Amino acid sequence: MTDEPSTPPPTALPTRTDVVVLGAGPAGLFAAIEAAGSPGHPSVLVLERRPFAGGQVPVAGGGRCNVTNAGSHEAILAGFGRNGRWLRTALGRFDNNAVIAWFEQRGVPMKEEEHGKMFPLSDNGADVQNALIREAQLSGAKIELRTRIEEIVVVDGAVRGVVAAGQRIECGALVLAGGGGGPKPTPTSGVGLARALGHELIPPAPALAPIKLAGAPVAALSGVALMARLSAGPVGFPARKPPVSKIGELLFTHFGLSGPVVLDLSHPIARVAAEGPCEIALDLLPAVQDARAEIDRMAQAEGPRSPRNSLWPSLPRRIVELHLQIAGVPAERRSAELRATERDALVRLVKDWRFREFEVTWAGAMVTGGGVSLAEVDPKTMESKRIRGLFFAGEVLDLQGDCGGYNLQASFSTGALAGTMAAAHVASSAQNK
Ligand SMILES: Cc1cc2nc3c(=O)[nH]c(=O)nc-3n(C[C@H](O)[C@H](O)[C@H](O)COP(=O)(O)OP(=O)(O)OC[C@H]3O[C@@H](n4cnc5c(N)ncnc54)[C@H](O)[C@@H]3O)c2cc1C
Repeated sequence: MTDEPSTPPPTALPTRTDVVVLGAGPAGLFAAIEAAGSPGHPSVLVLERRPFAGGQVPVAGGGRCNVTNAGSHEAILAGFGRNGRWLRTALGRFDNNAVIAWFEQRGVPMKEEEHGKMFPLSDNGADVQNALIREAQLSGAKIELRTRIEEIVVVDGAVRGVVAAGQRIECGALVLAGGGGGPKPTPTSGVGLARALGHELIPPAPALAPIKLAGAPVAALSGVALMARLSAGPVGFPARKPPVSKIGELLFTHFGLSGPVVLDLSHPIARVAAEGPCEIALDLLPAVQDARAEIDRMAQAEGPRSPRNSLWPSLPRRIVELHLQIAGVPAERRSAELRATERDALVRLVKDWRFREFEVTWAGAMVTGGGVSLAEVDPKTMESKRIRGLFFAGEVLDLQGDCGGYNLQASFSTGALAGTMAAAHVASSAQNK
């Protein structure tokens, strides 16, 4: 997500092409493949500032690349929160089954893992990257690496070309697939170029990121994983009505919290935190309704035993030990002797464990939340509502999905639609001349 310097391109660039694609990530490569294969076979030039094509694919899924998700359309759209509805047309035209079939037909068989996550059978993300690059080349699209687009040329409200590596290239349409801009997007990032043309941006916030807790209060639990409810809201938010809340797998780390439920909620939590003082809460026993009655029952049944060994049998012992320590329960105390105040404190810790000093870190963020406002883009074509012939695809848009292959699916779906529509735009402009 950083803006790396680009050295001059190795070959001379053409002075004219039908479609330019900014960025050779999954969204850009898919747009190029679809555009080049469209009726009339327009000429397609992909410009990529880095020395390699594939964008984030080589690092996705820890190098294994979680390509998409086997869930229903509704489940995939729900993974994008409120913005999911906007994605419906693009997903409908090129959905998860189409993505799976596409890769399998190109020699990359897929397998399904827990929660519907689809990975290449080889567990090697490079296979996904190579299939995308190979297909783009077969389609006739030209990929130029180490070539940064510095400016988009617009005349009378329509794209006329780009300036890349100091050279002007005329074009009939541009697909802007520059990915997320990170915390501080530069003027030549995808979002920076979109902003220069007057598009409204939703400010960046980390997404699919872990949460750092100040003072590392859960370091003793590092490596412990369990199903829990994670909630967040303004300081003092009522536990029964949290503004942000989800049950899922939580992982304690040496610095704080991670695991799927944390990654999924990191973006809404970062947004709440940006609005003012905020806290997060953990319910480590989401299935237990009346924890106070439960602790009284356990204290009576396990009277002579230490609470360390008898409390909350379904919880890992390290959690119980840390809670007894935080609640100040003396080591020699038997379960039956637990005082009312101690029981209350233990119930609070297990059902509503609060943390005020925390940070959703950019360092571990897999996705840039925010981006080009969806209100600026036609969801049926991916075309800008401000500039004719300008199409958007992928993470540059204000779309951030849960972990599980949702974000790459969005890149493929929006990329395919943007590429098709960019080619159609070029064809209709030629007819109208
Ligand atoms: C560590 C990590 C793991 C991830 N794992 C998964 C996963 O398993 N499953 C999943 O679904 N998602 C995953 N994601 C998210 C997913 O990889 C991205 O959402 C997806 O790659 C976005 O695709 P994109 O093509 O829009 O952008 P990118 O992949 O970021 O590609 C954009 C490209 O545009 C280029 N570019 C930008 N500006 C310019 C310019 N001015 N001129 C020329 N080129 C430019 C960039 O260099 C880049 O190559 C992961 C992300 C990370 C960081």
